Amino acid sequence: AAQQAGDELGYSVFVVGGFVRDLLLKVPTQDLDLVIEGDGHAFARVLAQRFPEGQLILHEQFGTARLEFPDGSHLDVARSRREDYASPGALPQVEESRLRDDMFRRDFTINAMAIAINSTRSGELVDYYGGLRDLKQGEIRFLHNLSFIEDPTRILRAIRFAGRYGFRLAKETRDGVDTALSTGVLRKLSNERFTEELMHMLRELRFGVMGESLLQMGVLKEWFESELAWDFTHPVLNKEVPPKRKWLICLRKMDLSQFERVQEKLRLSKELRGLTQKFFEVMTGLSVLRSSDKISLEDLDHYLEGLPKVILEVLMLDERFHDSLKRYHEATEGIKQKVDGMTLLQWGIKEGPEIGRILKSIRSAWLEGEIHSEEDEQKFVAE
Ligand code: ATP
Repeated sequence: AAQQAGDELGYSVFVVGGFVRDLLLKVPTQDLDLVIEGDGHAFARVLAQRFPEGQLILHEQFGTARLEFPDGSHLDVARSRREDYASPGALPQVEESRLRDDMFRRDFTINAMAIAINSTRSGELVDYYGGLRDLKQGEIRFLHNLSFIEDPTRILRAIRFAGRYGFRLAKETRDGVDTALSTGVLRKLSNERFTEELMHMLRELRFGVMGESLLQMGVLKEWFESELAWDFTHPVLNKEVPPKRKWLICLRKMDLSQFERVQEKLRLSKELRGLTQKFFEVMTGLSVLRSSDKISLEDLDHYLEGLPKVILEVLMLDERFHDSLKRYHEATEGIKQKVDGMTLLQWGIKEGPEIGRILKSIRSAWLEGEIHSEEDEQKFVAE
């Protein structure tokens, strides 16, 4: 469809960026980026006619357009950037130099390739900077020395792509990271941007590998301005498990001040922030309990009742809490408490603190094994 639209309007059309990289690597990819030589909006409108299920969004300011599909994927259209307006009759060399400039503004050679899709040159790979070579060598290479100074998020992107594909950073690129970090380049980044990049990593399969690189290259130390007790070694961090679980796992060795530092320097989503807070409260609570002689089930209940499953799963990884959690699990498994606030109201007990007290004592009787069945429960309440 893009070929037809391009041919029809007389525009050169290229697929660019991540799509080309993944196509050459033969790995699945979702989003499609097109760069055209011509009026981006006109092109996008023609294209949109062919995809009635897609929703067309035009950005006036940048002259870019996006088609969004019901499955969540999208197609972006951009004009190869130059400040002047596209002249329909531009010489091919001029067009090519625009594409070259566009590619040069990208982050890494493997992300700076294009494939022509007009019928006259369909499938032709445009690779000005050695992207194909680097794909074969398994290297992430920046396009120029100032790349990381220009945009420090590229440091995290480099680590992410390397981790995802099992690549390494090319020598100069790796040196470039060191230089950029040593000049304090991360200070240019807002908490939002840094968090966003970190969250991109968290959603990747090999988050553990990426985390190790972040540590090794000193990115985390630089960002948090101290060495926190990150732990990226747990094998689950490189498996397909929910991001929030990975998140708690890598934090689990930190102490209170370190947790606070993390919360301070990141703009986590409300959910992740709450979960992190809760996780830490429970860990602290359990550690304090552990130092007392005997932990009662009621004490455990105070911290563990109604806790999100992901927190329990991560706590289970910690040997210190194993026994308590197991004991608690066994005790709560058999609880079939039927009486609730409603029941008590129906039985004529007045609304107020009394209700809460009774419910609490019922639960603790279940926990302590004084109640084993519904009948026991009824009797207990009657008494
Ligand atoms: P992913 O598979 O993670 O989506 P992607 O390469 O498609 O990878 P995007 O973030 O969608 O990643 O970016 C699309 C393209 O835009 C990249 O391939 C790259 O060419 C360019 N790009 C993205 N971010 C930057 C950046 N910070 N600096 C320079 N170029 C960038």
